Amino acid sequence: MDVKKIYMDANALLEGHFKLSSGNHSEYYLQSAKVLEDPKTANKLATALAEQIKKSGLHVDTVCAPALGGLIAGYALAQALDCRYIFAERVNGEMSIRRGFEVKEGERILMCEDIITTGGSAMEAAAVVESLGGKIVGVAALANRGFCKREHSDVVTKPNCKLPQDIPFFALADFIFAMYEPENCPMCKTGSEAIKPGSRGN
Ligand code: ZN
Repeated sequence: MDVKKIYMDANALLEGHFKLSSGNHSEYYLQSAKVLEDPKTANKLATALAEQIKKSGLHVDTVCAPALGGLIAGYALAQALDCRYIFAERVNGEMSIRRGFEVKEGERILMCEDIITTGGSAMEAAAVVESLGGKIVGVAALANRGFCKREHSDVVTKPNCKLPQDIPFFALADFIFAMYEPENCPMCKTGSEAIKPGSRGN
């Protein structure tokens, strides 16, 4: 499956000069919501991801996604895995499990995101799930930004990857783009101004 082409066709792989949430600048930005606005595409991607997980033999009771980014990918993945789905959300900056969702002692939970960069949000949500008795058995995402090693890829783990090394990480593709600290950004040097994705309708 050519995940990059799916993102390109959906205009979800934006080219320009972007300021990322980390503060770094990049020529590219992935807007997964644009891919997932088509439920058929969302299901196609989730089905491929679920196939990979099933093939690995990993047993999953529940998929948990951190809101907002992981909501749609997580829901579609749970459907494809035929398992339960819950989500975590930020309340005053703190990740929490609300809405009456319960986690059983020892429940095998797979964390799901749309894109894994360092895995920070997924691991914040995972810590809450674990505090309720859940067991994190894996991480899944539609795509990997190349900081963490996923199954079936040669990408090696970078020091800023926050995913635990003793559980599998499944994703459909690696999207590896250069990122620059603002002071070393070649686009800034040409006088161009970085745009925060979302601030101008993108
Ligand atoms: Zn820049």
